Amino acid sequence: MANLGNPKNTIEIIQKHGITFQKKFGQNFLIDSHVLDKIIEAAEIRKDDCVLEIGPGIGTMTQYLAEAAGHVVAVEIDKKLLPILAETLAGYENVTVIQGDILKTDLNAIVNRYNDGRPMKVTANLPYYITTPIVMGLLESDIPVDMITVMVQKEVADRMRVGPGSKDYGALSLAVQYYAKAELVANVPPNCFIPRPNVGSAVIRLTKYKEKPVKADDERLMFRLIRASFNQRRKTLANGIGNSSGLPFTREQAAEAIEKMGLSAAVRGEALTLSQFARLSDLLGERGL
Ligand code: SAM
Repeated sequence: MANLGNPKNTIEIIQKHGITFQKKFGQNFLIDSHVLDKIIEAAEIRKDDCVLEIGPGIGTMTQYLAEAAGHVVAVEIDKKLLPILAETLAGYENVTVIQGDILKTDLNAIVNRYNDGRPMKVTANLPYYITTPIVMGLLESDIPVDMITVMVQKEVADRMRVGPGSKDYGALSLAVQYYAKAELVANVPPNCFIPRPNVGSAVIRLTKYKEKPVKADDERLMFRLIRASFNQRRKTLANGIGNSSGLPFTREQAAEAIEKMGLSAAVRGEALTLSQFARLSDLLGERGL
């Protein structure tokens, strides 16, 4: 089958099948072979890898993955794309297409069935409307995945990598950095897609840590504190925690713990690093929930 990294071939398939792009599914298909090569290289795909692709679309990246990997499992929600995938992936014996919603797919079952329970790599040009639940689901769960290389909105890629002091710093930054090393692979302009998205894009590589960079006695409490702090970004951290209905601490208790860490009681959450949130959570956790 003709290489879909060549825009001419993609346009031919689109016209032949009369494809109308589904905005609700975040359909923006890649048409740039350099970007595709870069993704495959950054994802370090080898012949003994089993790769999960989220949203194969018409099979563009799937073709590149199939050339490089041992096996590719691609989960696509849009039923209308299945006959097209059958055509564009004909000849690749090592691709399995599954129709379904990635957020409702049993990924453990896929890893067990197609990779004997060994860690898979995830590679995708993600549908942007569900980037955060997909990425957080992959990081927080115990699904064996060791590397995630994905196209996301440029702004989201920035949020994943920044630390205190940036306006982009928030709960997503802290969660990603707790679970993985986040590296920017490439910035990708709208003209690399058909149709063109309204936003800039970026490829980001998340390598999951075997050992977490900070230790918190109670991981869930730490993330509840982080959420409370960024839900009320303009408030002081002590107020944010004291006001949060989901947390049992008073403003005074929060302020005492913050001062014990050598910080001002008036500090905002956005000034704290991941290890400071871990320390705060340990101090408050000692009080018991
Ligand atoms: N991989 C293709 C490419 O790079 O050209 C298409 C990428 S497009 C940005 C996102 C794809 O994800 C679309 O094919 C869309 O139908 C699919 N998709 C959207 N929501 C999904 C979901 N919940 N589960 C699985 N696939 C989904």
